[in-house]
Amino acid sequence: MGRAKRLAKVLQEVRKDRPRGQERGGHQLTTFWGVRGTLPTPGLDYVRYGGQTSCVEIRSMGPNPCSIVCDGGSGIAKYGDAAIARGDRVFHILLSHMHYDHVMGLTKFAPFFRPDTEVHIYGLAKGGFGLRELFGRFFSFPFFPLEFKDLPSLPNLHFHEINGIEGVLIEGCRVEFQLLNHPQAAVGFRVWSAAGDTSVVYATDHEHGTGTDEALVDFSKDATLFLYDSTFSQEAYPKFVGWGHSTAFMGAKFAAMAKAKWFGLFHHDPDAPDLLLEAKLLPEAQKILPQSFLAREGDTLHMASLRDDGLEKARTEGAFFKFSQKNHDLKTG
Ligand SMILES: [Zn+2]
Ligand SMILES: [Zn+2]
Repeated sequence: MGRAKRLAKVLQEVRKDRPRGQERGGHQLTTFWGVRGTLPTPGLDYVRYGGQTSCVEIRSMGPNPCSIVCDGGSGIAKYGDAAIARGDRVFHILLSHMHYDHVMGLTKFAPFFRPDTEVHIYGLAKGGFGLRELFGRFFSFPFFPLEFKDLPSLPNLHFHEINGIEGVLIEGCRVEFQLLNHPQAAVGFRVWSAAGDTSVVYATDHEHGTGTDEALVDFSKDATLFLYDSTFSQEAYPKFVGWGHSTAFMGAKFAAMAKAKWFGLFHHDPDAPDLLLEAKLLPEAQKILPQSFLAREGDTLHMASLRDDGLEKARTEGAFFKFSQKNHDLKTG
């Protein structure tokens, strides 16, 4: 059975009462709330691409907008505040895995600390622990002052284990899963627009060089945007074989093989200042695929416009900018 057929069999609808697919209309926006790997990196050398760790919001606009968030790195704190400010109360978070750089922002994720929210978490059960149990370990003594059982949102917190599942429907948007090659396992996501005309692949953390590569290329066929673990330059990588990360060069190769429209370098190395990303990693990728760019914290990209008109026209005033501007106005006005 082909992947598409298998997927149709296993798709599960989360919240069936919401409008589906075409009825929703609208378009897909991708906002980068955090693009760094491993550790947040504040400082002047990092201002152009940002220092928050992994968090990407993929939003389907329309009469019933639906936000799906990939990972809870430090960037998710600002996302949570912005989403609450614009009136969102239902949240869907896809966790690639639970290494600190992908969950650390959850300790300041506002929706967890209010009783009027509904939060759905999707991720892998592992090491004999269920997803809920893994969460409990994260919010516990002595790492956090509040115990998991005391989280105000707990009655409305829902855990969805995705082991062995190829995809789910989240409020009318199709989301597919692909296992990656990473210590303790990670999973990649493909998030489709409600209308099914554009899609974003989020594939970090992954080390190339195993049979998983072929599956990942297959998984990413014709994606509008391919976001990939671009931690290392070609020169640096040999010193870090087995660490579970990849290169911008390999990302461009996979994007080209999958015929993805654009490749976004993602999960930047905390030791790589802006200048190094621009002088080394981006050219390595662009040599393979000219439609490569460095994912930049604060950018919102309009997916249909990215596909049809290119990167500059796809940049739009997104939630990140509006929220930051509002805070600025509050402080100065
Ligand atoms: Zn990571
Ligand atoms: Zn990791």
